[in-house]
Amino acid sequence: MSTAGQVIRCKAAVAWESGKPLSMEEVEVAPPQKDEVRIKILFTSLCHTDVYFWDAKGQNPLFPRILGHEAGGIVESVGEGVTDLKPGDHVLPIFTGECKECPHCLSEESNMCDLLRINTDRGEMINDGKSRFSINGKPIYHFLGTSTFSEYTVVHVGQVAKINPEAPLDKVCVLSCGMSTGFGATVNVAKPKKGQSVAIFGLGAVGLAAAEGARVSGASRIIGVDLNPSRFELAKNFGVTEFVNPKDHNKPVQEVIAEMTGGGVDRSVECTGSIQAMISAFECVHDGWGVAVLVGVPNKDDAFKTHPVNLLNERTLKGTFFGNYKPRTDIPAVVERYMNKELELDKFITHSVPFSEINKAFEYMLAGEGLRCVIRMDA
Ligand code: NAD
Ligand code: ZN
Repeated sequence: MSTAGQVIRCKAAVAWESGKPLSMEEVEVAPPQKDEVRIKILFTSLCHTDVYFWDAKGQNPLFPRILGHEAGGIVESVGEGVTDLKPGDHVLPIFTGECKECPHCLSEESNMCDLLRINTDRGEMINDGKSRFSINGKPIYHFLGTSTFSEYTVVHVGQVAKINPEAPLDKVCVLSCGMSTGFGATVNVAKPKKGQSVAIFGLGAVGLAAAEGARVSGASRIIGVDLNPSRFELAKNFGVTEFVNPKDHNKPVQEVIAEMTGGGVDRSVECTGSIQAMISAFECVHDGWGVAVLVGVPNKDDAFKTHPVNLLNERTLKGTFFGNYKPRTDIPAVVERYMNKELELDKFITHSVPFSEINKAFEYMLAGEGLRCVIRMDA
């Protein structure tokens, strides 16, 4: 029996207040409105960005909220005006969108869509400023327009990538955020040349995907920087050739890297969210040609401080959301790279839990254990 046009009651993990375990609730999910799609989520995983907004220490708090943005699912129904998706399509919801009409979407150089770019403070749908989730009539806020910690969710069509239905959703769900972000940050933004050296700050899933990008680009040295020594063992399977723990040195890590490399690395990619690491990632690139790319999500009050001479000395500082990929145009091809075995994803998935145990995924991330924990919605 079709559920199109009807309210769906289903399970969702609701964050009622900051830092408290999510609570499994029955929620009502309204039908998709104009330009919206309702998706049955099959697999979702936890990215550090979810944890920042759950913890809400350095971010604006917005509760009650359904978090989650890295996921894979199947279209259940579509709203008015949606022509390029239909029920049954396999999709990845994406935290940043592509309207295909604004100057950014028309530019080859940008994925910062005017209509649908990431907005961490918005808790409603852009169409009518309302939430599609409620419990006994009380609205529950959305997160990043995706809210994938729910069996069903409503997403703007511009934030939905339609992918090959043969692709295993329990694996390619990690391309919906972390792996595309890290990989794209290297191959689309840092763009190391064959034989160059690359430093990766933060060896979580995003950083190791950035390392994978460096490996595929033919980097000669991939230097991994992390404060958690347990990451180094894991990172050996991702082509990282050398490791630096800033805690092991009594001088700034940028100086350690400059000594290791005769003046600095050719490229660096920061995937930590720590403002200190962002500054080090910039200052450790070689003068004359070095390029640093920031990926980590900072606290809302952070400020980046460096001496302007570091820039005058011909270093470049860049930043990226979602590895500069356009979600609808580019992500289907990234999924194909996995299907063609050019890109490995399985090694990023170190844990898996049923939906009822979603709080365990938070515990693993807070303990710095493993990379991605995939949450199985049907279990
Ligand atoms: P993660 O927690 O799995 O990994 C982060 C790693 O950084 C950890 O291993 C941690 O030990 C390390 N770290 C923290 N502070 C450090 C420091 N000062 N120096 C060296 N290492 C340090 O997180 P993740 O899911 O891989 O995400 C990484 C970052 O990327 C987060 O900030 C996340 O919010 C951000 N992110 C950004 C985008 C984007 O589009 N720009 C997309 C996804 C995630
Ligand atoms: Zn993310």
